[in-house]
Amino acid sequence: MLKQGKIAIIGAGAAGIMVAIIAKRLNKDLEIDIFEINKSIGKKILASGNGRCNISNSNISQSNFIGENPSFTSYALENFTYKDFENFCKSIGLYLDVKEDNKVYPLSNEAKSVTRLLENNCLDLGIKLVLETKIENIEKENEKFTLSSSQKEFKDYDKVVISSGLGAAPQLNANESGLDFASKFGHSFNLTYPSLVGLHTDFKHSVKIQGVKKVAQVSLYVDGKKENSIIGDILFTKYGLSGFAILDISQFAVYPLKLFQNVQLGINLFPNINRNELLSMIEYSFKNLGNEKASLLLGGLVSNKLAPIILENNGIDRETLAKNINAKQIRSIVNNLCNWRFKVVDTQGFKHAEASGGGIRCDEVNPKTYESKLCKNLYFAGEVLDIVGNRGGYNLHFAWASGYLVGKTLAKK
Ligand SMILES: Cc1cc2nc3c(=O)[nH]c(=O)nc-3n(C[C@H](O)[C@H](O)[C@H](O)COP(=O)(O)OP(=O)(O)OC[C@H]3O[C@@H](n4cnc5c(N)ncnc54)[C@H](O)[C@@H]3O)c2cc1C
Repeated sequence: MLKQGKIAIIGAGAAGIMVAIIAKRLNKDLEIDIFEINKSIGKKILASGNGRCNISNSNISQSNFIGENPSFTSYALENFTYKDFENFCKSIGLYLDVKEDNKVYPLSNEAKSVTRLLENNCLDLGIKLVLETKIENIEKENEKFTLSSSQKEFKDYDKVVISSGLGAAPQLNANESGLDFASKFGHSFNLTYPSLVGLHTDFKHSVKIQGVKKVAQVSLYVDGKKENSIIGDILFTKYGLSGFAILDISQFAVYPLKLFQNVQLGINLFPNINRNELLSMIEYSFKNLGNEKASLLLGGLVSNKLAPIILENNGIDRETLAKNINAKQIRSIVNNLCNWRFKVVDTQGFKHAEASGGGIRCDEVNPKTYESKLCKNLYFAGEVLDIVGNRGGYNLHFAWASGYLVGKTLAKK
């Protein structure tokens, strides 16, 4: 047995599993225990991509990540490229399907095949999975770590890896215990917040338009300043807004919201038609079909659920005939269709978030090894760090890449 050969990994998610497999493959003498609250490994892998698991992305760089210092990811990403990931998958018997938009899924189209093959590889390598065990505390004395659950102490570890994720999806037992462990060893962390999440707005009539889907341009305004703009699917919901474009923009909206800044979304329901064209379209139908209800005619442009609401937003009764709407009112309708402002008041919360922003400050972690700069032999991997990826397989890829780097470091004699 090596002098420094006993390793504890807290959390059997993508990051922790990767650490264990790589470390053990490269150094058979290591004794590795992975502690996991759940009955089985990789619960979030199973939940990802709606059960299909958007496992990685074939076009990845540090620009796909957000945090206090996104460049922290670059060394790990360069050392574990998409090609490296593909080779790793092949080595456990997993084949991949790269879609046109670079998103990567298992060829089986099933997340379950990913966790089964990972678990099989862990067991083949003699990695011990200590399941249904929540680590509550870590102590370090005389260079040895002791971990404890509510039932038991686990002693004599030379190195500890915190890969326990953060709070997104608490229904899968996700939690922020990693931040408490790290704090004990002097680490600080940045405010955590739900990311890739639906947004609650102050719009009073959300219930009336729930279910309407549209491709729109979504612009983010923080304290009145335009910060970002994304074109994609939006979905009106009873609480406010969701859909891919909203999840994407939430990555930039939630942090300022947490800081009590004024966060607004401007929705352009017609990103591919210019304002003047839209104005002419409405003027034409209101003029030529003036005896029809304006809401009916607007329904020829936007969803029938939205049309009366757009009129009411502009102080026009939904029963009004088109001929009774004046030029100024038509301009304000067009303005509403192209720049519908919603004040964001809350999020759908961690329960419905795909990821968690914030986390352990990367400046306190060595970017080439992911070892703590404050406590020797303590390492971090995955989402517990203050790094969050865009939607599209980036979060899982960072978990794999950071896990790979830690595994390689641990294997060194
Ligand atoms: C619904 C949903 C869909 C998603 N879809 C995608 C997607 O399609 N593509 C993508 O790239 N990303 C997706 N993500 C994000 C991605 O799943 C995570 O970013 C990634 O799994 C993080 O990996 P991790 O290993 O760092 O943390 P986790 O997967 O959170 O693993 C941490 C593990 O530690 C365990 N744990 C925590 N505390 C303790 C403790 N004290 N003791 C013992 N065990 C502990 C937890 O139970 C957990 O199993 C999705 C997330 C969710 C919630």
